[in-house]
Amino acid sequence: MFKAVLLEQEDGQTRARVAELDDSQLPEGDVTVDVEYSTLNYKDGLAITGRGPVVRRWPMVPGIDFAGTVTHSSHARFRKGDRVVLNGWGVGENHWGGLAQRARVPGDFLIPLPAGLGARDAMGIGTAGYTAMLCVQALERGGVGPDAGEVLVTGANGGVGGFAIAILARRGYRVVASTGRPEAADHLRALGAAEIIDRATLSEKGKPLQKERWAGAVDSVGGHTLANVCASTRYGGVVAACGLAQSMDFPSTVAPFILRGITLAGIDSVNAPLGRRTAAWDRLAAELDGRIIGAIADREAPLADAIELAGELLAGRIRGRVIIDPNR
Ligand code: NDP
Repeated sequence: MFKAVLLEQEDGQTRARVAELDDSQLPEGDVTVDVEYSTLNYKDGLAITGRGPVVRRWPMVPGIDFAGTVTHSSHARFRKGDRVVLNGWGVGENHWGGLAQRARVPGDFLIPLPAGLGARDAMGIGTAGYTAMLCVQALERGGVGPDAGEVLVTGANGGVGGFAIAILARRGYRVVASTGRPEAADHLRALGAAEIIDRATLSEKGKPLQKERWAGAVDSVGGHTLANVCASTRYGGVVAACGLAQSMDFPSTVAPFILRGITLAGIDSVNAPLGRRTAAWDRLAAELDGRIIGAIADREAPLADAIELAGELLAGRIRGRVIIDPNR
């Protein structure tokens, strides 16, 4: 038997509870993992509260990421005792996920934990840090290096935003952080932000082309914010778009693309190919120390608390990341 957050649908409403489940109920997969840690992501918040169409199959165990130890495997790349990490692939959406003491998945979904990175730190980084790294790598591929100019990070107090600030600052970029929580300015500066701006300056409809400022940007917010970021990105700059915390809309014009040659780089962590994942995780392990991870993932909670915390996360009342320990 093992404990898991279980989502069920009753009269079109999502009901979440902690359930005792039997191993025989685990979904198909060639690797079984004892989950040591998971984390609470924006998407998990949508799944648990039912506020977004995240869950594709019922009942569902949410949790789009986990880290743990393999207990059974018939997959060629994994053996009992291997330490692994998982992000995405529809886990927590159409395949039971990580907010549980045990998970069974296709081994192709897993990558080995990078050397030197423990399961707890891996989930402190979680899908947020991994996605932030994919965004930074997109800026680099687009030629935006530390000398190119200022880089903007929106949703700065969120999980993706916090890790994007930390990664960019460590690489020598001048990072400007956009937030609706100015009271967290000291925290953002400690992560590496050189300047803090009020997200209200970006969140309303603006002109199609604005004063050129950003060499690059990491945006987890979408909506008018993303449109304004594109409109104020410098000639040839790159905007990595990964999220929709403000809106799924993109009310922009083609002006920044055809007149300033900017690039909008779409970031998807869920189905990113294996090579890109392992490259991102290797760099996360090499570049982020425990102090930085702990500054962003500064809370840990037991499995049962994930249900209440989901609403808090969507309400923007959680800073950074909460690590979930399913074994307490
Ligand atoms: P968080 O909830 O941790 O952070 C989101 C942040 O966005 C908040 O902390 C807040 O920052 C800001 N924000 C919230 N509401 C608004 C609003 N109405 N207008 C402007 N800013 C707002 O989420 P995550 O960091 O986990 O994820 C961020 C986004 O990225 C989500 O949309 C998520 O779905 C997406 N995502 C996408 C991935 C992909 O593969 N493409 C992977 C991971 C996440 P502040 O308080 O500083 O203003």
